[in-house]
Amino acid sequence: MGSCATISAMSTPLLPLQDRFGRQVNYLRLSVTDRCDFRCVYCMAEDMRFLPKREILGLEQLYDISAAFVQLGVKKIRLTGGEPLVRNNVLWLVERLGQLDGLEKLVMTSNGAQLDKYAAPLRKAGLSGINISLDSLRPERFRALTRTGDLAKVLRGIDAAQQAGFERIKLNAVIMNGRNDDEILDLVDFVRDQRLDISFIEEMPLGQISEHDRALTFCSSDSIRERIHQRYPLTASTETSGGPSRYYRMADSDSRIGFISPHSHNFCHLCNRVRLTVEGRLLLCLGNEHSLNLKPIVDQYPGDTERLRAAIIEAMDLKPERHHFSLDDEPQIVRFMNTTGG
Ligand code: SAM
Ligand code: SF4
Repeated sequence: MGSCATISAMSTPLLPLQDRFGRQVNYLRLSVTDRCDFRCVYCMAEDMRFLPKREILGLEQLYDISAAFVQLGVKKIRLTGGEPLVRNNVLWLVERLGQLDGLEKLVMTSNGAQLDKYAAPLRKAGLSGINISLDSLRPERFRALTRTGDLAKVLRGIDAAQQAGFERIKLNAVIMNGRNDDEILDLVDFVRDQRLDISFIEEMPLGQISEHDRALTFCSSDSIRERIHQRYPLTASTETSGGPSRYYRMADSDSRIGFISPHSHNFCHLCNRVRLTVEGRLLLCLGNEHSLNLKPIVDQYPGDTERLRAAIIEAMDLKPERHHFSLDDEPQIVRFMNTTGG
């Protein structure tokens, strides 16, 4: 990599980030690209326009902002997108972030399509955990839901991640009535068999999509849990992965079954996260537009850690109390999930 104005995480005392409602922010989700090799029907429109290169943060800038967050007490960073593995040189970023003092967990959410190639180098570079999205185990349906994806490749990616030594790999599945809700038990059997965890996600109204009516396909976590419970009795667990999933256990398996329920079980009061888009917008909530643009700061004052940290601290006051997702109205949030990072 060329020379860059990087920020040392060593010298500054920890200043915890706290919002107006007393919530501590210790988790940053970093969208490293808005681009993706899939076009999942719930995430993107078929015909997407992506950001031009001049509008996105360089890898060094992503590193500098992450380092500032770690200095301010952030313990966990998730690389996401878009698809993080389509960003050029993302391994460089993983390697640098992996060396940040004070960062306890460096994890990624990926569609898995390139993990057969990247799983081992990512592990070596310091990635500590990985979530892989998988909504169907049927090749044709998988292709239809992702519009471009090849199921066999993703399954090879999951295998490669296991071989590379990632522990507690978690699958993410967005369940939609009439599209893939008949595969809930197949997905549970798959994770039991492969010794993986899984989270079932309620679809969120981010961006205008055309392929289905979200109000009609909405599948609540409770109904999914009930269907699983009839085959495999579930016991609520107090475990947390530091994210929004509520976990359940089965008596005869190590696999954890999680539910991410933005509609039916609001988790905003426990929110410990903020998000950075690849344009440099610090989003204080997935379901609101409250944000601060950090790009002018890292563009105009490279290496000015004080200024960056002060801006981040100030932004905490913008964090709203909760999201107000509704399935009945037009989406209030026009950005698609690939911009925000899941
Ligand atoms: N491309 C990577 C992937 O798919 O894993 C990372 C980014 S993706 C935006 C992160 C997660 O968000 C995925 O698990 C995806 O299923 C989920 N997601 C995308 N759009 C969503 C929506 N509208 N509602 C709920 N989850 C969504
Ligand atoms: Fe790409 Fe992930 Fe969005 Fe699917 S969910 S289109 S894989 S960013």
